[in-house]
Amino acid sequence: MLSMNNQIHIIGAGIMGLMIARNLLAAGRQVLLYDKGKVGAESSWAGGGILSPLYPWRYPQPVTELALRSQALYPGIVRQLYKNTGIDPELAQTGMLVLSVADLGIIHDWAAHYHVKYRVSNQADISQIEPNLTPSLIRQALIFPDIGHIRNPRLISALRADLLQNGCELRENTEITAIDLHNNKPRKLVTTRGDINTEQVIVCAGAWTSKLLKGLGFGIPIEPVAGQMLMYKAKPGLVNHIILNKKRYLIPRLDGRVLVGSTLENAGFNKFTTDEARESLQNTAVEMVPALADYKIEAQWAGLRPGSPRGIPYMGGYPGIENLWVCSGHFRNGLVLAPASAEFMTALVLGQETNFNQPEFALDRAS
Ligand SMILES: Cc1cc2nc3c(=O)[nH]c(=O)nc-3n(C[C@H](O)[C@H](O)[C@H](O)COP(=O)(O)OP(=O)(O)OC[C@H]3O[C@@H](n4cnc5c(N)ncnc54)[C@H](O)[C@@H]3O)c2cc1C
Repeated sequence: MLSMNNQIHIIGAGIMGLMIARNLLAAGRQVLLYDKGKVGAESSWAGGGILSPLYPWRYPQPVTELALRSQALYPGIVRQLYKNTGIDPELAQTGMLVLSVADLGIIHDWAAHYHVKYRVSNQADISQIEPNLTPSLIRQALIFPDIGHIRNPRLISALRADLLQNGCELRENTEITAIDLHNNKPRKLVTTRGDINTEQVIVCAGAWTSKLLKGLGFGIPIEPVAGQMLMYKAKPGLVNHIILNKKRYLIPRLDGRVLVGSTLENAGFNKFTTDEARESLQNTAVEMVPALADYKIEAQWAGLRPGSPRGIPYMGGYPGIENLWVCSGHFRNGLVLAPASAEFMTALVLGQETNFNQPEFALDRAS
């Protein structure tokens, strides 16, 4: 029988909780994973799945380093998940095309520093590879050939199946309402389905993280930032790359569907979809690829990103409390940052070395 201190309780089964659970199971830990709803049904389902920050050169170094490490880890993770579960998360190395860019000098230096491949292309080149793109938008464009995307709802299904195969105890529809302490250590999770004894807890509660931790005394500035998206039921070949223009983007799924994202809204914990956002995203889509007007909008949805200052996640031990860790605040980039974040968190929890600089993610950092 496994001892209590081999058990780790993870609160929140979004991409963070799922990936950390996978690593800890692989390290021989017993994992109990809780979610107030269904696995991965919040931001991690709602996201677009681009495996890069938008305008990646504009992000602070800790985010860039996590993104680059994750990009290296993703192909192996996806291969393994597909092999174990038969569910293909559809990792697609389409490349990302960035239109209307001004800061070429900064991009050049950034790309050279981090060894990121990119090229500047002219209108003739772009028209060849994206023939449906509005010609007047393409005077000049950047192409990042190594950037891709993943079909995040499938990634979640694959992770769920993989965790269950590997003995994870999954408790959906179980909300943790408080973490009870004794001698500055977790003792009990108070849940909507009764109390559960615990000694080690990782909080991966996304946009709800601050709400859950409020009672423990140390505040972390993680706030919900809503985002809406649309999906067109288009055909393969209509859009070939992720295309980014004026902070909005198109993502081509392998079956031809095209996602359009996204809005940024401070509306508390509301996940409404609105006609205004639909119209605005529709205009974005048709301005970029006029032929999209001929296809049906199949879905519109909203999700709550875990917003944090400068988009730098909070990952580390909770100040003043032993055996309580937090991994949250990945804002717009949780899908791309998840594998490296999970690797970092696993090392912290197991007391192992990590190549990342812990103070940059610490909960009590300056900002
Ligand atoms: C419109 C949109 C587009 C996006 N596009 C991209 C993109 O292209 N690329 C990218 O990298 N990122 C993208 N993101 C961001 C990304 O989705 C998030 O950063 C990421 O999903 C956060 O993962 P998480 O596990 O921290 O949070 P979540 O996925 O929100 O998971 C947190 C989980 O915790 C559970 N929970 C909360 N409180 C409790 C509690 N008290 N008890 C039990 N369970 C609890 C919730 O139910 C939830 O399932 C996008 C987000 C949105 C909304």
